[in-house]
Amino acid sequence: MSTTWIRKADWVVAYDAAADRHVYLRDADVVFRDGTLIHVGRGYAGAADTIVDGTDRLILPGFVNIHAHPTSEPLLRGLTEEHKSRKLGMSTLYEYTVLVGRSNYTTTLAESQAARDNPQIYQDDGARSAAFRMAAWEMLKSGVTTLVDYSPNRANWIDEVLGTGMRVCLAPSFRSGYWYTPNGHEVLYEFDEAAGRRAFDEAVRLLDTVAAHPSDRIFGMMAPGQIDTCKPDLLQDARDAALERGLPMTLHAAQSVVEFREMVRRHGKTPIEWLESIGLLAPNFIIGHAIFIDEHSWIEWPEKRDLARIAESGSHVAHCPHNFVRGGVVLQHFGKYRRAGVNIGLGTDSYPHNFVDEMRWAAVMGKVAARDVGATKVEDVFYAGTVGGAKALQRDDIGRLAPGCRADIVVVDCRHPMMQPLRDPLRSLIFSALERPITDVYVDGHLVVQGGEVLTVDVSKAGEELTAGQQRALLRVPDKDWAKRTADQAFPLALDTVDSLPATDLHQ
Ligand SMILES: [Zn+2]
Repeated sequence: MSTTWIRKADWVVAYDAAADRHVYLRDADVVFRDGTLIHVGRGYAGAADTIVDGTDRLILPGFVNIHAHPTSEPLLRGLTEEHKSRKLGMSTLYEYTVLVGRSNYTTTLAESQAARDNPQIYQDDGARSAAFRMAAWEMLKSGVTTLVDYSPNRANWIDEVLGTGMRVCLAPSFRSGYWYTPNGHEVLYEFDEAAGRRAFDEAVRLLDTVAAHPSDRIFGMMAPGQIDTCKPDLLQDARDAALERGLPMTLHAAQSVVEFREMVRRHGKTPIEWLESIGLLAPNFIIGHAIFIDEHSWIEWPEKRDLARIAESGSHVAHCPHNFVRGGVVLQHFGKYRRAGVNIGLGTDSYPHNFVDEMRWAAVMGKVAARDVGATKVEDVFYAGTVGGAKALQRDDIGRLAPGCRADIVVVDCRHPMMQPLRDPLRSLIFSALERPITDVYVDGHLVVQGGEVLTVDVSKAGEELTAGQQRALLRVPDKDWAKRTADQAFPLALDTVDSLPATDLHQ
C-alpha cells in the first residue's frame, strides 16, 4: 500500500455528490492510496509515503473522452479539416474519410488480414498503431484519463491500450455493410450481413475477454458502427448481448443530413424515432452524435419529438463539436438538450485529441447555436467532460474527485503565463491556456504525465511513423476515390505551391 498526499493545493475542483456538481475548494488536500482517493478536503491528518506540494496548483478530475477513433482519425490530419462534401450535407464521411485507412469493417480480424491487397478492407498495422499512439499522447497531454476506443478489432488491442497507462473502454465496431458514393452527390450502401454477423461474434468474444481480464483499467462497450450500416436484427442482438452483460452500448446516429434522409427513405421515421421503434433507446445507450434530430434547422421536420424521446429513455449523447463545426455543422443546442433532461458526455471523435480544446468548442458553439451567452457555460461543459461522460459509461467512480473514486487526477500549474492573472482557473484553462499548463496526470494513482512529458508514449517516433503511414495511405487514394483522383487532387493544400514568385524590382 502506498499513499500519496497532494498537500494544500491552491485550488481543487471537487465533486459535491448531493448537488451533483463540481465546486472549487481552496487550500485543500487530495490524498490517494494505491488507485483510490481516500481524502478530498482540508485538514488531512493521516500519514503518506509521498507528499506533493500543492502550492500554485489546480487539481482536477481526469477527463472522460467517450467517443474517439484513435486508430484512424490521426491519419486524416491535413486532409479533412476543410474537405467535406458540399453536396452531401457538409459531411466528410462518404467521400473523404473513406479514402484514408480502412473503409470496410464488416469483417473479422482474420478476414481483413487475409485481404491485404483489398484497399477497402486492409488496415495498415503500422499506420494504425502510430495513429493510436499519437492520439493517446495528445489525450494524455490534455488531461484525458479515460478513453473510449471505438475502432475495428485489432490484434494486440488490450496490450496496446494498457501500455499507455490510460483507462480505456474497448468498443469493437462491426456493421452489416458500408456506404460509398459513386459520384460525390449520392450515397449508396452495400450489405454483407453474414460478414457483419461474424464481426459481431468476434466483438462479443473480445468484450468477454476484456471483462475477465485482471486489469481494472480496461472495460468494454457494445459498439455497432452506424445506424444506416447496421440491420435492425443485428442492432437488437447487440442490445441484448450488452444488456445481458451489463455493458453500455453506442452507435453513430443522427450524425448527417444524408443519414437522416436515408432513414426517412427506408422507414418513414427520423433516425431517433426509428431507434425508439426498434427498442434501442435505453439508459445504457449512447448516441453519437444526435445532431440531426427532427428540430435541427437543416432538417425542418414537421414534428419536434426527438429530444423528448432521447430524454425520456435515459439515453445519452456523445457530443464532439470540433470535428463537425469545421464543416459548419452545429448541435442545436447543448443548453437545450440539457434543459430537456438529456445527459451529455464529450468526445474528440477526430483529431486533434485535445480535450480542453473540445470543451472550449462545446462552450463557444453552445452559445453561438443558442445566440445566448448563458446557454452553455464552463461549468456545463466541464461537467459533460467528466461526470456526464462517466454517467454515460455507467460509472460513478471516475470523472470526479471524491473519496472512494479512482485516483484519476490532473495537475495544472497556476503560475503558467497563460493562467495570469489568476482569478478563475477553470475559465482561464478552457478559454485561454488549454492543455499548456497541465503538468502531471495520474491514472489509477500512477503518474503517466510528469512535468508536461507523457511517460508512456515516444511521440517523436509516433510522429515519424504516422507521417510514413499517411504517405502509404495516400498512394491508395485513387483506388478508393469515385473520381480516381490522386491524393493531391482530392485533398488540395491550403495554399497553392509555386516554384518562384513573379519578378519584382523594388527600384523601378
Ligand atoms: Zn465517431
